[in-house]
Amino acid sequence: MQFKVGIGYDIHRLIAGRPLFLGAVEIPYIKGLLGHSDGDALIHALCDALLGALGLGDIGEHFPDTDPKYQGIASSKLLQAVKGLVDKSGYQINNLDVVIIAQEPKLVPFKQQMKENISSLLGIGQEVLNIKAKTNEGLDAVGNREAIACYAAASLVKGGVK
Ligand SMILES: [Zn+2]
Repeated sequence: MQFKVGIGYDIHRLIAGRPLFLGAVEIPYIKGLLGHSDGDALIHALCDALLGALGLGDIGEHFPDTDPKYQGIASSKLLQAVKGLVDKSGYQINNLDVVIIAQEPKLVPFKQQMKENISSLLGIGQEVLNIKAKTNEGLDAVGNREAIACYAAASLVKGGVK
């Protein structure tokens, strides 16, 4: 088997009084994502896509939100741990694609920084990571600025660090 593919999805509630982290970038906004960790839904979706491709379950099994160890943890640490599992698998990251769905704030100005941060955390070239941002056309909780959701897809190819 030369290729493995995984998908990931995550959604977090937006609340006042929290910093907003997406793609390991702190984004100035009046609200932030509620969560046991820093609430970085983009990184969580990416972790789930990678774990899915590896056939290793999901982020909740690896980093349970009932474990005080993960209270307030930077999601970049979780992504690095998942990257360790990819390295051990004998596969390497072929490409990654991400969709962020947020009514606010405008994320286009932060996409390049997200790409730089994530590719550096994963030790990959920026050309294999694509980030898309869109609104929810005002519909539902995401459109009503009550939440931000992310989807991610990961493709792994055989051959890599063991
Ligand atoms: Zn999450």
